[in-house]
Amino acid sequence: MAGKTSFNQVPWLENADLFGGDTALKAAVRTFGAAWALPGLWRRGRLLGRAQWLDIADAANRHPPRLIQYDRLGARCDRVVFDPAWHDLLGSITAARLHNAAWAVPRAGAQVARAAGFYLQAQLEAGSLCPVTMTYAAIPLLLDQPALAAWRRPLLSDRYDPRPLPGPEKAGVLVGMGMTEKQGGSDLRSNRTRAEADGDRARLSGHKWFFSVPQADAHLVLAQAAAGPSCYFMPRFRDDGELNGIRLLRLKDKLGNHSNASAEVEFDGALAYPVGEPGRGIATLLAVAARTRLDCAIASAGMMRMTLVEALHHARHRRAFGGALVDAPLMRTVLADMAIESEAAMWLALRLADAADNEPMLFRMLTPVAKYWICKRAEAFIGEAMEVLGGNGYCEDFRLARAYREAPVNAIWEGAGNIMCLDLLRALQRQPDSLALLMGELGAAAGGHRDYDHALGQLPEKLRSADEAGARHLASWVARLVQAGLLLRYGSKAIGDAYCASRLTQGDALFGEAVHRGASAILRRAWPE
Ligand SMILES: Cc1cc2nc3c(=O)[nH]c(=O)nc-3n(C[C@H](O)[C@H](O)[C@H](O)COP(=O)(O)OP(=O)(O)OC[C@H]3O[C@@H](n4cnc5c(N)ncnc54)[C@H](O)[C@@H]3O)c2cc1C
Repeated sequence: MAGKTSFNQVPWLENADLFGGDTALKAAVRTFGAAWALPGLWRRGRLLGRAQWLDIADAANRHPPRLIQYDRLGARCDRVVFDPAWHDLLGSITAARLHNAAWAVPRAGAQVARAAGFYLQAQLEAGSLCPVTMTYAAIPLLLDQPALAAWRRPLLSDRYDPRPLPGPEKAGVLVGMGMTEKQGGSDLRSNRTRAEADGDRARLSGHKWFFSVPQADAHLVLAQAAAGPSCYFMPRFRDDGELNGIRLLRLKDKLGNHSNASAEVEFDGALAYPVGEPGRGIATLLAVAARTRLDCAIASAGMMRMTLVEALHHARHRRAFGGALVDAPLMRTVLADMAIESEAAMWLALRLADAADNEPMLFRMLTPVAKYWICKRAEAFIGEAMEVLGGNGYCEDFRLARAYREAPVNAIWEGAGNIMCLDLLRALQRQPDSLALLMGELGAAAGGHRDYDHALGQLPEKLRSADEAGARHLASWVARLVQAGLLLRYGSKAIGDAYCASRLTQGDALFGEAVHRGASAILRRAWPE
């Protein structure tokens, strides 16, 4: 018989103050020159913690999008139909300008402020970040194209407009990216979609195996032209209002990311504008992808944060063997270790956003490092957070299960793990002074911890001996060193010391194997509740 009262079940974590309760995030926003954004982030953090928004996020994932290829009279329409919750999410995100803030309202610290907003948003729902990051990443390239002047206003708007109309007629637009084909997503030189010049545009024929946000107003697409692989801007509608030649074949049946649509598509003479230098399409698109990779790191750090807070909340309220779970010494060890990892991920992600504008070489080098490391750590981290909730963590009533299914996407798309590590090697080869560049970042924390100084001393040899087979080791090692440096400079002493003592000496231990001094202070800092 169902009981009226649930004993020892943990109260629902709702109406939480996501920003106000995040001491480290507030410090990072101030440290990286975005203090002006604090009031807005505070408001946003309170909004995103509300029960109403938790329900919206849940609904968007329980009712995934559907593809409608033909209208009721049998004409091809290629529409994707979403739950209203999806539109609520996109409306709120665009109003907060997470898709264009740094370009529409540029100012010092704008990338950091936007990254902090994105980090908070990732704690609510991740599928809706897909169109947001692709639009954010594409805008600088698109604003540079005289042929796309009519798109400028809706690209820089704070309105969400899902109406099926040509982009320049809309109040706001979203943009996707189409590169991956059946025969390869990492090796983009294998792309077979063809582009034939047609006046000042081109007609594209071929397919894309992954084409997320097929309902977007346009996509950046890679295709083979006479000059070699080239980048094109492919609107969903032609200027006359007719559908462009983009056929949606089916939607992917994905492990997670259920709120978001990802399609398989064919191009049947689809009209597109050339963008960037002909024959340099891969380089053009990889410059765009650097920004989506940054967002993968921020979003994974955000998901880690959300699941950490859920785990802490649970452990403080749940009792076992006569006491609160959080007071069990081994549980404290696990939670403190996770709190350290979560804060380290946040600092690295925001430091990268900070570098995005003014430190292009550092940004180039640390982007694959952060994307690889944070997205990979998030997978294991979220699994651990689920376990703190016991069986509840595995059930769909609790949002950790959704986060667990979502996490691998960030590791795979926009360059899977190995590709990121190989990209780090490429960045090191192309940057003759990479040691000096890294030392410029890491040297500021020298003297902060014995293990850190020891690791720093190994840096020249690690870089010198870097090779393809060992690229993962190098990427994770650099990531840990950068995170340690950031925590020593900006984190609490307990966290900086604990990170160095556990991450720089022990290699790849599971969460909770290192016992940290000052665990209570670490947990209080993580989520005061
Ligand atoms: C939910 C989702 C949405 C997506 N949305 C889009 C989208 O909107 N647009 C788009 O273009 N793509 C999209 N993708 C595709 C994604 O970017 C690719 O799946 C990814 O880049 C990997 O390409 P692939 O699947 O062809 O795998 P492959 O390229 O075949 O790679 C398979 C594995 O081999 C590894 N590998 C490859 N080369 C090497 C090497 N030289 N050395 C060592 N390891 C190597 C890779 O790291 C990977 O782990 C999406 C994917 C997912 C899951």
